[in-house]
Amino acid sequence: MRTQVAIVGAGPSGLLLGQLLARAGVDNVVLERHTAEHVVGRIRAGVLEQGAVATLEEANVVGRLHRQGLVHHGIEIAFRGERHRIDFEALVGKSVVVYGQTEVTHDLMDARRAAGAKTVYEAEDVTLAGFDGTAPVVRYRHGGSTHEIACDFIAGCDGFHGVSRQSVPASALTTHERVYPFGWLGVLVDRPPVSHELIYVNHERGFALCSMRSPTRSRYYVQVPLEEKVDAWDDERFWGELRARLDPGANERLATGPSIEKSIAPLRSFVAEPMRFGRLLLAGDAAHIVPPTGAKGLNLAVSDVRYLAHALSDWFRRGDASGLDSYSARCLKRVWFAERFSWWMTMLLHRFPGSDSFAMRMQQADLTLLFGSRASQQSLAENYVGLPFDD
Ligand SMILES: Cc1cc2nc3c(=O)[nH]c(=O)nc-3n(C[C@H](O)[C@H](O)[C@H](O)COP(=O)(O)OP(=O)(O)OC[C@H]3O[C@@H](n4cnc5c(N)ncnc54)[C@H](O)[C@@H]3O)c2cc1C
Repeated sequence: MRTQVAIVGAGPSGLLLGQLLARAGVDNVVLERHTAEHVVGRIRAGVLEQGAVATLEEANVVGRLHRQGLVHHGIEIAFRGERHRIDFEALVGKSVVVYGQTEVTHDLMDARRAAGAKTVYEAEDVTLAGFDGTAPVVRYRHGGSTHEIACDFIAGCDGFHGVSRQSVPASALTTHERVYPFGWLGVLVDRPPVSHELIYVNHERGFALCSMRSPTRSRYYVQVPLEEKVDAWDDERFWGELRARLDPGANERLATGPSIEKSIAPLRSFVAEPMRFGRLLLAGDAAHIVPPTGAKGLNLAVSDVRYLAHALSDWFRRGDASGLDSYSARCLKRVWFAERFSWWMTMLLHRFPGSDSFAMRMQQADLTLLFGSRASQQSLAENYVGLPFDD
């Protein structure tokens, strides 16, 4: 088989890249290790920046998003039993949209199916070769036999544990990492959310977040130690712990019920540099991870893909390599801003085991400054709604 771009991974990065390229007339094939049902069933991100929405508009997959997405003009931060609102609209004149990653993936899969573009699910043992020259090849096993795709470029959109980054010689890659000593235990429940906006909670028992996916489906998280097992948390224990961290007003409105999903996500910051190796280009979680506190993971994946789709279509249309040449540097500039913001939000809102009194006072001073200073709030709002694209 031959195609112009072989895309490894059918998460949001791979599917969105496939859709943008297809619309630009660039032929592509997507290879995915899991089934479509598995991919679409993963409960992950939920907050979209305006720039991410604009990119999904460019991909023509926003019909449902515009009908069902919830526009949020701010967030609340709770500390010592009091909630403080960060008003994005008043501070920076922008908002975000709450629309689950599951739904984004669903819309992209539907569009790919309608366009008749090729996706191979359950592609096993994917290997990448030849990307340091001009004739890259991707091999995989499917249905018991081995297949090969010859292509002009390989897009590594296969997430943090994927094969693409691992195919690059270690000497060509610089990595930066921070692993946090806790995770988020998340519960999805078919009950209306506590509030129409997200509530981030800094509590002495640990961080909590009240989020949602729709007016009738809520997503709640509590900070737990890294070694915690999800089986140790029945619904009753989860709701009890969440209640202990919420202010009285939120507690009064909290509607609990049987969880429909429960999982623990570890928190990590990670960046691999550069993001291009000859004819292999990495995008999304394959190149970088942020802790979810700043709601940036999915948004960064979308911004990488936006730059990559434009760069590849310029190359195929006009032989213009400038977008490919600047791809890594342009992405990484945005990535590092999002890494800084996600790290800062994580430091601001979590309880760190073994924190000394100085560290605690620094966190308190940061929060007090934020609640009392418009300039501090503006900085948070500017980063939360998303920095502008560099195009
Ligand atoms: C539990 C969890 C919660 C999260 N919560 C948030 C949040 O609240 N807010 C936020 O902004 N972000 C969140 N994120 C991050 C966000 O979900 C990711 O940034 C986003 O999924 C990145 O998309 P991606 O397509 O780059 O990678 P992925 O979604 O990881 O997709 C990669 C795809 O590649 C496939 N793949 C992997 N290896 C191979 C292989 N060898 N061959 C073929 N296919 C392969 C995988 O099966 C997967 O489908 C969360 C992530 C996790 C894990």
